[in-house]
Amino acid sequence: MNAAIPIKLDDSCIDSPVLRERGQREVFCGLTGIIWMHRKIQDAFFLVVGSRTCAHLIQSAAGVMIFAEPRFATAIIDERDLAGIADANEELDRVVRRLLERRPDIKMLFLVGSCPSEVIKLDLSRAAARLSKEFLPNVRILNYSGSGIETTFTQGEDACLASMVPLLPPMEATAPTSLMIVGCLPDVVEDQFARHFKAMGIENVQFFPPRNSRALPSIGPNTRYLLAQPFLTDTARALESRGATHLPAPFPFGVEGTTEWLRAAAEVFGVSSEVFDSVTTPSRERAQRALERHRTQLQGKRIFFFPDSPLEIPLARFLSRELGMQLTEVGTPYLHRDHMKRELMLLPKTTQLSEGQDVEKQLDRCRAATPDIVVCGLGLANPLEAEGFTTKWAIELVFSPIHGYEQSADLAELFARPLVRRQKIAAEELACN
Ligand code: SF4
Repeated sequence: MNAAIPIKLDDSCIDSPVLRERGQREVFCGLTGIIWMHRKIQDAFFLVVGSRTCAHLIQSAAGVMIFAEPRFATAIIDERDLAGIADANEELDRVVRRLLERRPDIKMLFLVGSCPSEVIKLDLSRAAARLSKEFLPNVRILNYSGSGIETTFTQGEDACLASMVPLLPPMEATAPTSLMIVGCLPDVVEDQFARHFKAMGIENVQFFPPRNSRALPSIGPNTRYLLAQPFLTDTARALESRGATHLPAPFPFGVEGTTEWLRAAAEVFGVSSEVFDSVTTPSRERAQRALERHRTQLQGKRIFFFPDSPLEIPLARFLSRELGMQLTEVGTPYLHRDHMKRELMLLPKTTQLSEGQDVEKQLDRCRAATPDIVVCGLGLANPLEAEGFTTKWAIELVFSPIHGYEQSADLAELFARPLVRRQKIAAEELACN
């Protein structure tokens, strides 16, 4: 196996001070996760118990996808419910019955809480238990919160997966050690990783969430799990309460992150260095070649991250180490030191890390830093573009396939494209004057 990257902890961010802020923030709520999760678990349905605003949010976010039978909807809480005139529980039961009668293909139903359901204190866990009695075993009914009061946009996936953990079947104590990959991945990426594990001789690899709710992975003390996404704090806690053990690794973004992530599994499953290298080298070299073109565009460019999803730290590591970008501030909504340890060990010491947000203060720091590109939410992108900054929408990084070797160049291109566009506009303006 190629030696792991030599790390000089003194030069890393592992002990660097973190700027902590708790002020006004500009992020989507956890309902947004439905947009990518409903594509993953193909027999699941997400019923948001919310207002017309919630319905509008997910419909416009998913507007580009037209399904004959959509896999999400909103049970609207209206003024009568808010005023306590109608019995919201009865209305919810009625909506669920009608939905499940009409859609026998639904095998797992998530009741997704929102700000309005919280405001009227609608107890969705009791509703899920009540409705489960009626519909089990044909449909399993779960609940989680995607409310903007409680969650930011990637926390919706965390809450959803955590709600599924109690359903995972227990694994026999004598079962061989198995590997669980945790976090929603596009099918194409999942297939690539599955091929790598198989070629290394690692059997018993399961993905969570699965593509089909009837194929839930089993779990027990012989489960080792790798996080594919950096925002699954509650899910990780729930998996550990079922006996699973986390394999610390950087996240599989870029060539280096993917190699070290695969290596973490290879080491635990006793894969020899020769086998590891023979499996990973062709993909690694191909991905490195594909990155070259983007390095020319990105090298030396300064980047500023606003906090939207905890993807910022792994992405910053990829952009600085593999593409030569300079990090100004790297914001993250929250910092899970354990899950991020291997990432922090790879980030340059000079990086300013910030956790949480006080948006006005952060905007001032961003202006003072004069970065070449700013990664931020939709709400900040337009005003910053109007001020002359080049921006990248953080949400696109969650929607796009960006994990693994084959996607490394696509990931780099997501950052290169806005810079190239800005250069073209500047060149055209110059030509016109
Ligand atoms: Fe808005 Fe809250 Fe509904 Fe999210 S859950 S769309 S923040 S009202």
